[in-house]
Amino acid sequence: VIDQGVPDRSVVTTCAYCGVGCSFEAQMKGDKLVRMVPYKGGDANHGHSCVKGRFAFGYASHPDRLTTPMIRESIDQPWREASWEEAIGFAASRLKAIQAEHGRESIGGITSSRCTNEETYLVQKLIRAAFGNNNTDTCARVCHSPTGYGLKTTLGESAGTQTFDSVMKADAIIVIGANPTDAHPVFGSLMRKRLRQGAKLIVADPRYIDLLKTPHLSEAQHLPLRPGTNVALINALGHVVVTEGLEDKAFVTKRCDTEAYQSWRGFIADPRHSPEASEMITGVPAEAVRQAARTYATAGNGAIYYGLGVTEHSQGSTMVMGIANLAMATGNIGREGVGVNPLRGQNNVQGSCDMGSFPHELPGYQHVADPIARGRFEAAWGVTLDNEPGLRIPNMFDAAIEGSFKALYVQGEDIAQSDPNTQHVEAALRSLDCLIVQDIFLNETAKFAHVLLPGSSFLEKDGTFTNAERRINRVRKVMPPVAGKQDWEITQDLANALGYPMHYTHPSEIMDEIAQLTPSFTGVSYAKLEEYGSLQWPCNDDNPQGMPTMHEISFPIGLGRFAITEYVATEERTNRRFPLLLTTGRILSQYNVGAQTRRTDNQQWHNEDVLELHPSDAELRGVRDGDWLGITSRSGQTVLRARLSDRMQPGVVYTTFHHPGSGANVITTDNSDWATNCPEYKVTAVQVEKVSQP
Ligand code: SF4
Repeated sequence: VIDQGVPDRSVVTTCAYCGVGCSFEAQMKGDKLVRMVPYKGGDANHGHSCVKGRFAFGYASHPDRLTTPMIRESIDQPWREASWEEAIGFAASRLKAIQAEHGRESIGGITSSRCTNEETYLVQKLIRAAFGNNNTDTCARVCHSPTGYGLKTTLGESAGTQTFDSVMKADAIIVIGANPTDAHPVFGSLMRKRLRQGAKLIVADPRYIDLLKTPHLSEAQHLPLRPGTNVALINALGHVVVTEGLEDKAFVTKRCDTEAYQSWRGFIADPRHSPEASEMITGVPAEAVRQAARTYATAGNGAIYYGLGVTEHSQGSTMVMGIANLAMATGNIGREGVGVNPLRGQNNVQGSCDMGSFPHELPGYQHVADPIARGRFEAAWGVTLDNEPGLRIPNMFDAAIEGSFKALYVQGEDIAQSDPNTQHVEAALRSLDCLIVQDIFLNETAKFAHVLLPGSSFLEKDGTFTNAERRINRVRKVMPPVAGKQDWEITQDLANALGYPMHYTHPSEIMDEIAQLTPSFTGVSYAKLEEYGSLQWPCNDDNPQGMPTMHEISFPIGLGRFAITEYVATEERTNRRFPLLLTTGRILSQYNVGAQTRRTDNQQWHNEDVLELHPSDAELRGVRDGDWLGITSRSGQTVLRARLSDRMQPGVVYTTFHHPGSGANVITTDNSDWATNCPEYKVTAVQVEKVSQP
């Protein structure tokens, strides 16, 4: 839905797709959105945009939008329309009855990385203050939770170190397990600009990504590692740095914990981490690893960017720490052009983590066991808070099946489609006595719900999103919510119905409370956001205008902490029955499970997920391009069309997960990161065979 007339007004707001956080002018004619024009004053995008933010906004006015609350006694009954008052009252009385019968810990909730900071803050507050437990988690559990753990452990802060613009000062760029030109397109274009100016490129990825095809590259290396072997590769890079004397000794001596460094140095110098030893595991030639390590360590400014190809592994947190080790050892931290930079997938993954969505952390990553932090929240919220971490999402599913977890409030997240091992998730949802789904569409999760609360799109609300560079951007209401309430108002109504009073009249008041309770946000306010356009946290008395580059003088933990990163092979192994490794990723025109983009004209560019496989694997199986393939793993089966591609290495196959019928999560496994339970989506052993059309 584009170019429907001459606009009569415009509102500057933030794209609700990826973690780049581009600013747009939403141009309106009457009550209709006619155009999204990239905003030149946007600090993250400087007037650039991609095909999603620019064109894929029609979902907000799609006829599938939920417009009326609905309730039902049990999931085998039909839905019945209800007033807001009745639906909220129904949900609250069920939650109260369940807690009375099964205990305080029997209910919990999940916040959305699609919603605003203020909305996610309010959901975790509802859970901690009104439910009275810490059973709050976020959809970041399944994407960047290892980033939170790994960066906090080594650098002391759970966030990327740089601005996007910093890449223009990088001399060597390592991209690991990310595909920026498809998944973070505006930043991918900026990176390409720097590469055309002469920066050297190293890509560690099982698949040959488009960035490697950038014209006029001065130097580019592809390290096509086997899925699941990231840690062996990062250790080999560290080994070369240490054994060839490429460390920045002055940086390490001044900025890092010496004991931890010496311990890491001894560990990484061991021959079992040599490029030759690593080649046996990763498949990447030793000489290529040596060259990559030398390029990065000697370039001047070396910057590392990574995505879900790092985090969504059983060693996701180990790998994040390995990346931080490498950056610290080479002194590539604390100035422009360097750093460790997670590319966040969803618009507000950073924000949902910052806002205290995790079961062990209050807003601002303050641990629930910290009595001083907890005391601040208790005084402000007027309750006594639990000092024990609550349940993570996979623990909630297990407890639901086992019978002790009975009710779940889900804000803007389709867990039935996006979490791994669909059969297990569905069994858990089916076990619940009360599932409350707050969303803009009737999603797969809603099939198991008792209460449906229609949410609001990004065009219908005020608030803030925080992008991958810690930049807090304003989201401004362009039109009224189609169902009459913004998401924060729904959560507030539910809290009041449960007997816990909330009386905010505008999201700016919620931000004021966040600023009062969160040390890294004390300088943030809507007035200041109006004045500066955006602010990068930490924004406080020490940094009143925010902090573009982190760790310039010291780390929040004082000295940087090297971590021991032993490689442990994933339990997901190939064998004669499952001889191929499946890995997954995204495509430019679609977004995550496709709930939004599939309801826009972007659908014409990508209307099905396919299985990419190397021509040699296809030939072995008598498969031609376009044939239907049955894909079987230890968890399940699905059917996809074949696409022959020499982007893949033999033995590795690849698919996207944008369409519900693709069944990508029917075949993924239960394996997860040892520290955070982030699912190992990126490694599944499969067999592929030709089948007749499904
Ligand atoms: Fe939106 Fe990301 Fe595209 Fe920017 S790059 S327009 S934030 S989808």
